[in-house]
Amino acid sequence: MGIPVKVDSVYEVVIEDIGTDGEGIGHIAGFTVFVPRAVIGDRVSVKIDKVGKRYAVGHIESVVEPSDYRIQPLCPVANRCGGCHIQAMAYDAQLAYKTRHVKDALQRIGGFDDVSVLDTIGMERPWHYRNKAQLPVGVFSGRPVMGFFAAGTHDIVDIDTCPIQHPAVDAAIKAVKDYVSSYNVAVYDEMTGKGLLRHIMVRVGFNSGQVMVVPVINGDSIPHAKEFTDMLRQNIDGLASVVLNINRRRTNVILGSQCKVIYGNDHIMDTLCGLTFKISPLSFFQVNPRQTEVLYTKAIEYAGLDGTQTVLDAYCGIGTISLIAAQKAAKIYGIEEIQQAVDDARENARLNDISNVEFICAKAEDAIGRFIEDKVRIDVIIMDPPRKGCDKGFLETAVRLCPERMVYVSCNPATLARDMRFLADHGYKATAVQPVDMFPHTTHVETVVLMSRVEK
Ligand code: SAH
Repeated sequence: MGIPVKVDSVYEVVIEDIGTDGEGIGHIAGFTVFVPRAVIGDRVSVKIDKVGKRYAVGHIESVVEPSDYRIQPLCPVANRCGGCHIQAMAYDAQLAYKTRHVKDALQRIGGFDDVSVLDTIGMERPWHYRNKAQLPVGVFSGRPVMGFFAAGTHDIVDIDTCPIQHPAVDAAIKAVKDYVSSYNVAVYDEMTGKGLLRHIMVRVGFNSGQVMVVPVINGDSIPHAKEFTDMLRQNIDGLASVVLNINRRRTNVILGSQCKVIYGNDHIMDTLCGLTFKISPLSFFQVNPRQTEVLYTKAIEYAGLDGTQTVLDAYCGIGTISLIAAQKAAKIYGIEEIQQAVDDARENARLNDISNVEFICAKAEDAIGRFIEDKVRIDVIIMDPPRKGCDKGFLETAVRLCPERMVYVSCNPATLARDMRFLADHGYKATAVQPVDMFPHTTHVETVVLMSRVEK
């Protein structure tokens, strides 16, 4: 059978689902069509841009009949900016989509037909939730522009305000644009590798009110540094740190490894679940602090701690979950592969006067075996791996340790489903699956799962 779709032709399509980048999915005579910016339930007129063997891609010419879930996005550039994929979808529908997405992955990839997935926990006000922005700086018609890249390109969509960021980010955008215009600062050009100012990163401590601004530069100093930090101070309440990050490489990686303080401290502080954490320019810290508290509280609840247990927190980052769990456990071991994060974790333990934790700098799959060799009994394993999920060797050793419970925190339902299948085949049963919306208006979803040992 031939392909029933032609480039440049226009078809009417009903959007049945959305894909991982928020693109609408529909069919034309059984053939799959991806339509960016379409909402589930829309009937749209689509012009086809590309036809492949198994699917086509098109763009909306007009919305013939809007979905019940289609709303006017709050942000004026929502349709161009690559930051938010699904702002045109009502928030309740976004949450329902995320629950369904987790359930689908567990069924399709994990083969779990009967596992129940709890409703995704959303935010009461899903705006201004992010504590970190990384904005490319450019010029357009002789004026500085800052914003996010348009979806799938490196064209900057210029913004003065972003409704998912903390308001300090808007203030930083204004100050940086004024600085670039006032002193004719050369902005970096990706094509030639010339120019100085590449990105501006802003990090905000939601509870402390402290703000850090990090200009990423292709050089080792900026002109008029004093005037720059004065402009930032005038615009930003709580400015506590300005750090230059040096990145001279021609790469898409935003941050370089070297940092230089030009104002205030080399870090900001924030609190999470009542504990204090130090945030350095390069350290990992969850980007939605309000929902992180919801997520961590669930994870600790699932761990079922009563003060007597020994807990392994694998992929522990700067030790956030470890330190929160430490207050309810006898002993915590944290494993993390990045040395800087482990240093931060140890310092965070000192800052909070917590002494029943031990951090190990190693790959989780390499270090976990020592608990078997040393005959350390582990009662609970908490794991929060990156998107690619856990290493198989890690999971094999985890089941040999035979903990009563495993709490899996995941940012990728597909690898979560794969790893849960392994655990289910080796003596554990999924007893709770709770998605949490850490990233409103995007298709990302975080899930916390309790796997309990089946009594033999
Ligand atoms: N639990 C932490 C961090 C989660 S992010 C928090 O909530 O803040 C995942 C972490 O796993 C990152 O810090 C990353 O550096 C680390 N990591 C990635 N692969 C690893 C591996 N194989 N072994 C140990 N740590 C790893």
